[in-house]
Amino acid sequence: MLAQMTLTSLKGIGPKLVEKYHKLGLVTVQDLLFHLPLRYQDKTKLTPFSQIILGDEAQLEGEIISQHMTQSRNPSLLVKLISEEGQSLTCRFFHFGFRQAQQFKRGLTMRVYGEVRSGPTGFEMVHPTYQLFAKGQSPELEDTLTPIYPTTEGLGQASLLKLIKQALALLEQYPLTEALPSQLCQELHLPGINQSLRTLHQPQPSDDLLQIKHFEHPVQQRLIFEELLTHQLGLQTLRQAEQQRQAPNFPPSQTVNALLASLPFSLTGAQLRVLHEIQQDLKKPYPMQRLVQGDVGSGKTVIAALAAIQAADAGYQVAIMAPTEILAEQHRNAFCEWLEPLGIPVAWLNGRMKAAEKRFMLAQVVSGEAKVVVGTHALFQDAVEFQKLGLVIIDEQHRFGVHQRLALHEKGKTEDVHSHQLIMTATPIPRTLAMTAYGDLDLSVIDELPPGRKPIDTAVLSNQKRLEVMEHLYQKCKDGVQAYWVCPLIEESELLHAQAAEVTATQFSDYYPDLRIGLIHGRLKGEEKALVMNAFKAHQLDLLVATTVIEVGVNVPNASLMIIENAERLGLAQLHQLRGRVGRGDKQSHCVLLYQAPLSETGKARLNIMRETTDGFRIAEEDLRIRGPGEILGTRQTGGLQFRMADLMRDQHWIALVKHHAEDLATSHPDLMTRLQERWVGHKVEYKHA
Ligand code: ADP
Ligand code: MG
Repeated sequence: MLAQMTLTSLKGIGPKLVEKYHKLGLVTVQDLLFHLPLRYQDKTKLTPFSQIILGDEAQLEGEIISQHMTQSRNPSLLVKLISEEGQSLTCRFFHFGFRQAQQFKRGLTMRVYGEVRSGPTGFEMVHPTYQLFAKGQSPELEDTLTPIYPTTEGLGQASLLKLIKQALALLEQYPLTEALPSQLCQELHLPGINQSLRTLHQPQPSDDLLQIKHFEHPVQQRLIFEELLTHQLGLQTLRQAEQQRQAPNFPPSQTVNALLASLPFSLTGAQLRVLHEIQQDLKKPYPMQRLVQGDVGSGKTVIAALAAIQAADAGYQVAIMAPTEILAEQHRNAFCEWLEPLGIPVAWLNGRMKAAEKRFMLAQVVSGEAKVVVGTHALFQDAVEFQKLGLVIIDEQHRFGVHQRLALHEKGKTEDVHSHQLIMTATPIPRTLAMTAYGDLDLSVIDELPPGRKPIDTAVLSNQKRLEVMEHLYQKCKDGVQAYWVCPLIEESELLHAQAAEVTATQFSDYYPDLRIGLIHGRLKGEEKALVMNAFKAHQLDLLVATTVIEVGVNVPNASLMIIENAERLGLAQLHQLRGRVGRGDKQSHCVLLYQAPLSETGKARLNIMRETTDGFRIAEEDLRIRGPGEILGTRQTGGLQFRMADLMRDQHWIALVKHHAEDLATSHPDLMTRLQERWVGHKVEYKHA
């Protein structure tokens, strides 16, 4: 019933608003019920200033003792409060109106809610939500938690709350039927679906609020289980469906041996093993679905080239997709160098091509003349037509979740695409996560670096040593070393104190006019980026000042020094990726991680891990332990793998159990997946792609 009822049947929602809800994938009342709170705000109590934990959200109260505007081009409004205990808090507003500024009168009491940070003069909150009132007239505290929903631009929490309230009223009238078998619920102590949804959206003061806040309540466990199960069943279906399909098989090829013989190195044991695994797949009658994980510099590209040769030799075409233009160009160079002498033509597509050149390339692809085609993901989303596509290689891909893959699969069904797929990633993903994130794929790991690589020598230094580090870099460059200097943000941001790449580049050229400096950041056009990269590669530049855009895949073997500023702000996995840009040649490489003092104990511990190891898997495990899977499988890297409720780190204990039950349920309850998908995936995929 609720799965058929559209949002327009609710009160207070017009066509404009409906559109915004559609953007979130919310079409029916049931969709709305499964739009779950990300977290809760606890406005049931006031936190004494003495118990403030930096970085946590808190509700605080104090008397306004001053307000003033900062003297800068974009002034911010600072309102200072003093608590009963005599401690102060500054509220900072970057956007404010004149009227708003006038409200903050001295002597009034202000109750604020927000994340507490440390500012120049003590505790600080940026844009807190607030209430103002006269001393002694404090309004009552809330009696339960306030859910916070994921939302989109122009859609406020209030609007969501109002609609969800109506949806819950309808749920009383038309309860959902239980999707999970009752015996399973009993065995796992999982409460019913209707009760679970009600409690989740509207916790009652009598509920265990602390449990709910920490997502440990049984109703939450119930939904976590159900969501993970939906995901797992999806993976199983994908895998089975994939194996029902037909794919061309590629017999062993002599040309593969020809490339191996012409390489200036021999493959490592790990490379040989993974190559063998791929070759086994390519002989099977159904499509390969393999993920190759290999640390930065482990030599994934040559493996991709060898697989491509095997496909080309059997008369099929190969598409290679890279996530950035820089990487695509690098692949094109490598593939041309390796494949063209063997008589395999390589075509290439990029966003900057002139129309005529692009037409020419596309014609080569359609006619089948081009055997191997390199480009970015974006290009392949356009209608590139192949004559006979047999293998798709996706490099550094973490962006597709299972629901997107399911959707693609549906599309492929009608188009009858049966190519093999090879996905390569340098982000080492701990096993438990890989099981969930890529459970439908077979996994290969290149767990060995080519011989002769010297581990990168890493130092962790306070930013106070910055000038000395600059001088050291200059001297090294005079000796012929090439260096990277990475600044995490492109613009000066007062708030984050991050060093701007532009400012740093200017500083270097002021101090060392004879140093040849290049600057690269996300704001440059593809063409400009390529120019700078090529100049650096050709050693026409000594120093490349960059933002994190250089993170993925850049290969300049002569570069052997890397400085990363504000290293404390980056995740370990990201630092590892960045550091992997050096240590690619035979020179001893060095990396300096600069941090902004003072650094917390955990901050120190994290950076020390970088000093102790260059093993990407160990770093990933530590990152997972310290920062949770959001960082490793977070939006930036997986996009699609976003659960509404489950958190792969927090809910790890469910993963194996869910997998176990999913296998039984798929046979005992064949319709379960469709019913769960309807609830948990609903209209999400459809509308995300719309
Ligand atoms: P990644 O796995 O990070 O993509 P690449 O494929 O770019 O790594 O390889 C890094 C460098 O190592 C390249 O210059 C490549 O030619 C070289 N390489 C690959 N395999 C070997 C090997 N077995 N021995 C020596 N060098 C190798
Ligand atoms: Mg690579």
